[in-house]
Order: sequence, then structure tokens, then C-alpha cells
Amino acid sequence: MPTADHCSECGSPTLVEISPGQLQCHYCSAVFRAPRLEGASVRIAKGANVIFGKNAHVIIKGGLQIDDGAQVAIEGELTILAPGDPERIRAAREKT
Ligand SMILES: [Zn+2]
Repeated sequence: MPTADHCSECGSPTLVEISPGQLQCHYCSAVFRAPRLEGASVRIAKGANVIFGKNAHVIIKGGLQIDDGAQVAIEGELTILAPGDPERIRAAREKT
């Protein structure tokens, strides 16, 4: 399974996170690994130019950080799932 920023099968830039660390092409349904998304929020850094197209359905788990200077256009559907409850996360970490 390749790692991808865009679909290597059909070239679509629209990849949807279907489970932690897995992206599926919106157009041809190919599935890719996305190690940079595993357990982390998404950061769009200064200088980036990101466009979520009209057909995009993007789900970001853990929040989205957009740095000053980044260009971000959201034309499609963007769902940001809130990070977990900090108290529960702390409690879970203390058990291990
Ligand atoms: Zn594709």
C-alpha cells in the first residue's frame, strides 16, 4: 500500500481518511497509508497552498492547525472531529 498525498492510481488530490492512518481516494476508491495522520492533528504550515475542492469530503481527526501565511481554500465539506477529552486522555496514560 503506497503512501500518498494524492491518488497514484487516478491522480486525484482528494483523499478521505477512512480510518486512522488510512486514506481512500474519493474518485477511484484506492486505499493508501497515511502515516503522517496517525494519532496526530493536521498542520498546514506557512507557505503551503492547500485547496479542498468542491467534491472534497475531508475528515480531520484531532484538529487542524493553519499557520500564518498558509493559503487554505475550503470549497468542499470539511469535518474536524474534536480531540479527545484531555482528562480522559491523562487518566488513560496514567494506567499504563
Ligand atoms: Zn484514485
